[in-house]
Amino acid sequence: MLDSYAVIGNPVSHSKSPLIHTAFAQQTNQAMQYVALLAPLDGFEATVQDFRQRGGKGLNVTVPFKLEAYQLATRLTERAGIAQAVNTLKFENDEILGDNTDGIGLVRDIECNLAIPLAGKRILLMGAGGAAQGVILPLLQQQPALLAIANRTPEKAAALWKQFNTYGNISAGDFLYFADEHFDIIINATSASLHNALPELPASIFAQAALAYDMMYRQEPIPFLKFARQHGAQQIADGIGMLVEQAAESFFIWRNVRPQTKPVIAKLKSLV
Ligand code: NDP
Repeated sequence: MLDSYAVIGNPVSHSKSPLIHTAFAQQTNQAMQYVALLAPLDGFEATVQDFRQRGGKGLNVTVPFKLEAYQLATRLTERAGIAQAVNTLKFENDEILGDNTDGIGLVRDIECNLAIPLAGKRILLMGAGGAAQGVILPLLQQQPALLAIANRTPEKAAALWKQFNTYGNISAGDFLYFADEHFDIIINATSASLHNALPELPASIFAQAALAYDMMYRQEPIPFLKFARQHGAQQIADGIGMLVEQAAESFFIWRNVRPQTKPVIAKLKSLV
């Protein structure tokens, strides 16, 4: 029987994770299957336990269940505990291990795939939701000169400052708070692009940016990346690389094998 894995979410049918993990499994000769699992909004835990009782080995967790997955885990990795959000569950005997691979996925995409080191850089992280929260610690671990967190609701950025300021040099405010500063790397972790909206950032902020990055991915142009390019960003990137890299880290946690990500990123880019 094949070892069984899935991505659990609501909605989940749009997820690229089955495609990515199936490609990883073929590439590394792992005897496993990976499907999408829809959980009712009020039935996350029951769906997980049912999957586990049927012999499931692990799950990726997506919107809106990352916090519930954090609460369900019986053991957490340090990065998941600090992020207070879980995107990877591994079932072993009686234990449910919870990890968060989003941040390392972003870091690997920027440093390895885009070849832009984060150490010493001034980084602007836009957004203070689950995605932003999951990437703050891994970004700080690369020792940037500054990690500025800007959010439409500045109180949420301030709360993240409080949570993470002992791990590195962070500041927090709304988008205009940073209007007169320059940044090397600007990351959009808001969900504005999902609605074709553009966070209210001053155009001048992109003048010295080596990279503008949007965690979102889709076929049509992303307004934030278009705007960044028009106003001086040297390089732009969407979130496909992050998606594949976070998946590769989950795959490693489950199978103890590291798949090659570049061919899978290329395959996905040709599809979306
Ligand atoms: P959340 O709902 O948790 O957070 C949404 C954030 O976006 C909040 O900070 C919110 O601000 C802000 N926001 C929403 N609309 C606007 C707007 N019009 N202008 C400015 N700010 C806005 O979402 P997530 O953090 O879970 O996801 C954010 C994005 O990251 C999504 O596009 C998601 O697809 C992507 N993502 C990509 C991953 C990948 O692997 N590539 C992994 C995880 C996420 P406020 O607090 O003021 O409401």
